[in-house]
Amino acid sequence: MQGLIQPYPLTTTAILEYGNRVFHHKRIITYLPDGTRHAYTFGEMYLRCKQLANALRNTLGVGRGDMVGTFAWNHGPHVELYYGVSGMGAVCHTINIRLSSNQIEYIINHSEDKVIFVDATLVPLLEKIANQLETVEHYVLINAPADFSTTLPNTLHYEDLLAEQPDEYDWPEIDENEACGMCYTSGTTGLPKGVLYSHRSTYLHALTIMTPNAGNLSSQDIALLVVPQFHVMAWGYPYVCVMAGADMVMPSSNLQPAALVDILQRERVTRANGVPTIWLGIYHELKKNPPAEKLALREYVVGGSALPKSLIAGFERDFGIRGVHAWGMTETSPLGTLSRIQSKHASLSDDEQLTIRAKQGIAFPGIELRVVSEDGTPVPRDGQTMGELQIRGAWVINAYFKTLNKESFTADGWFRTGDVSTIDEDSYMEIKDRTKDLIKSGGEWISSVALESALMAHPGVKEAAVVAIPDDKWVERPLASVVLLEGAGRVTPEDLMDFLSPNFVSYQIPRDFVFLKDVPKTSVGKFDKKEIRRRHAAGELV
Ligand code: AMP
Repeated sequence: MQGLIQPYPLTTTAILEYGNRVFHHKRIITYLPDGTRHAYTFGEMYLRCKQLANALRNTLGVGRGDMVGTFAWNHGPHVELYYGVSGMGAVCHTINIRLSSNQIEYIINHSEDKVIFVDATLVPLLEKIANQLETVEHYVLINAPADFSTTLPNTLHYEDLLAEQPDEYDWPEIDENEACGMCYTSGTTGLPKGVLYSHRSTYLHALTIMTPNAGNLSSQDIALLVVPQFHVMAWGYPYVCVMAGADMVMPSSNLQPAALVDILQRERVTRANGVPTIWLGIYHELKKNPPAEKLALREYVVGGSALPKSLIAGFERDFGIRGVHAWGMTETSPLGTLSRIQSKHASLSDDEQLTIRAKQGIAFPGIELRVVSEDGTPVPRDGQTMGELQIRGAWVINAYFKTLNKESFTADGWFRTGDVSTIDEDSYMEIKDRTKDLIKSGGEWISSVALESALMAHPGVKEAAVVAIPDDKWVERPLASVVLLEGAGRVTPEDLMDFLSPNFVSYQIPRDFVFLKDVPKTSVGKFDKKEIRRRHAAGELV
């Protein structure tokens, strides 16, 4: 028997309409690339989304299912694109500005973007490849002065485009399973692959991230979105904040630690998201220049790579700010798990609680996880036995754009994450490594992530990345690339080996260390282990 409830479509437009009705006074505050501050309300943003939808249809000839690219930082107009493009039935394709020119060219041609909305400061990156872009009919310049000069063909200015359009627009009826957004994987192992989000998946992901067991956002909050809108839709926060009625603070390109601390202070930000590198930078900035007044920031959600336990502890001890660890992938919208302690953990010591919080956490409702051994059977839920992490759920990919990629899915429909993890009896999942980053030394597995977290707990170490290097005797052995903190004094490989020895057995401890100024990073701020391995193979790391 069918239920007797209305089939109300879960669309991004439903989020926008709700935000406008209930939270029209809430603000979107942008710090533009030149540092100037711009603020307006959800109500004003709503009207501009309608002007944009008119412009897409009337001026740019965009129709249902067309791809509309964005090449932009986090700011108000980029939020308008999220809602305006998908609201009129097209797909908002956010392009990662930090990829190589070749990858960007590939992605734009592969997705068949019809129009690209581009920030003035990023135009040079597109000018280089514009001749090779086969499908782009128009470029719309955001935040460009009137006399802006560019070699891009067919350009329009965003504000002019909107100004000539009415702010009345009847949203078309959209099936909740239609596509609303697209993001490509960062392509660290081969060509980037497109992940096409649906209205329904986006709605359900946002609704879930808002809840207390997850991101815990409400209309009391002022949220700083550090995760770029071009990286998995800023983890869905532009949808979450409109749903929750939280003010949204957008830093655009002001991502240096000092600039972010300044914004946190000025806007009295209460929640934020970002990758560990960002929080590491902010932590050291706060240590160097302690703020005169306590920050309003209560907690930050951090993911994308493993959050060292020492960083969670440091933030809490020194500044009373809670780090909440989350895990996800482009293919999972992205958030799949998050780690908070529960009432049953109240009697545990601080350190035991920290150990739980440093795990990647428990799955959200709507998401299922399993960890399987090589023969496909589930590993024991003992928090020790490692296996491949597989996932299915309401916002998990079914197939990549234009290609199924069968090997990424199991016969019974689970997505194979390529992550190696454990799961404990309370369902807390812990990532041990990417399959390809695990180190197999003398037949034993070594987790590079565990070594990195432990090394980064050393008081003189800022960053540490561990990769496998070939070894005649052991097949592979770990190599640690270490960045020391300014003023750390002398730290030797022996110091670091001694520091690791209480927590690792001898064969796991790296004997090879290189000291670098910076660990190379990927387009989304993760340690670029492929590049480290390349440099090592080329004899550049000594
Ligand atoms: P991306 O699609 O670029 O977001 O990358 C997804 C991958 O990042 C995952 O498969 C993990 O390997 C890694 N990752 C994401 N979050 C975490 C985390 N909290 N700890 C460790 N690795 C993570």
